[in-house]
Amino acid sequence: MTFEYVFGPVPSRRLGLSLGVDLVRHKTCSLNCVYCECGPTTRLTLERGEYVPTKGALEELDRFLSPGPQLDFVTFSGSGEPTLHQGLGQVARHVKARHPAYQVALLTNATLFSRPDVREDAAEAHVVMASLDAATPGVFSTVNRPHPALDLEEMIRGLAEFAAGYQGELWVEVFLVAGVNDTEAELCALARVLTRIPHARVVINTLDRPGSEPWVEVPEPRVLARVQELLCARTLGPPAGKVPGPGGGEGERFLAFIRRRPATVEDLARAHGMEIEKVRDILRPLVEGGSVVMEERARGVFYRALNAPAS
Ligand code: SF4
Repeated sequence: MTFEYVFGPVPSRRLGLSLGVDLVRHKTCSLNCVYCECGPTTRLTLERGEYVPTKGALEELDRFLSPGPQLDFVTFSGSGEPTLHQGLGQVARHVKARHPAYQVALLTNATLFSRPDVREDAAEAHVVMASLDAATPGVFSTVNRPHPALDLEEMIRGLAEFAAGYQGELWVEVFLVAGVNDTEAELCALARVLTRIPHARVVINTLDRPGSEPWVEVPEPRVLARVQELLCARTLGPPAGKVPGPGGGEGERFLAFIRRRPATVEDLARAHGMEIEKVRDILRPLVEGGSVVMEERARGVFYRALNAPAS
């Protein structure tokens, strides 16, 4: 059994075991973040559309979820910005109605939250994790390299409006890039912006896997301590577990996983409930065949797919 729009499950610190649903083609986004683990954005857009067939995504979800695998979340994420897909709300409602054992999460950059239809779709998720890395246009431009028509203040207003009416759990994720958005001035501005987003929990992220730009660095520990103080960052979430995945070639499943998210051998072993040696055996021919490369990072050796899925 092969899957085009569903991938994982992916172990997540905050969501436990999460099945990914990718509603856009690689790499379709309204931003081109310097730290993006999917690589550079090739389709920079603000247009909502049916980037992948809604029917196909629903069929794959039913196929994966019908046997009742042990999962915590079904999460919209993957090769770009999920809210660009106009069927997001429909797919979320389908999962909730047909597979009520699973929670629905949305990972979004919130850039389209100024639109009421996007806010309505996002509100279908039990958990929304929205990223917000900048409070000033200059830093927004440097870190997120947005579509030229995007207005940061409009986007923040949309996120604040969403937060005010949202019944689920909202997280705001701030990704810190050393020397860019970790200055005292930007952190204070971010802290002020966060006061406009009620009930949101704040989480700080830094690079721990290969990103788009090699110059992206993690801020120094003393800066991170100041960040905690200013932005009240907290982390939580159940530890990652394991779930038997669907059938299909193991190499293909690994490729589908690391195309969206570079991973270590340990990440893959945890996600697929396999022995580390078995994971290495599956990865070896992929590396030798040139479809996967290995990159050394502080957290270990990451496996990254060289070729993106076809657009
Ligand atoms: S990190 Fe997210 S928002 Fe930024 S370019 Fe990548 S997919 Fe888009």
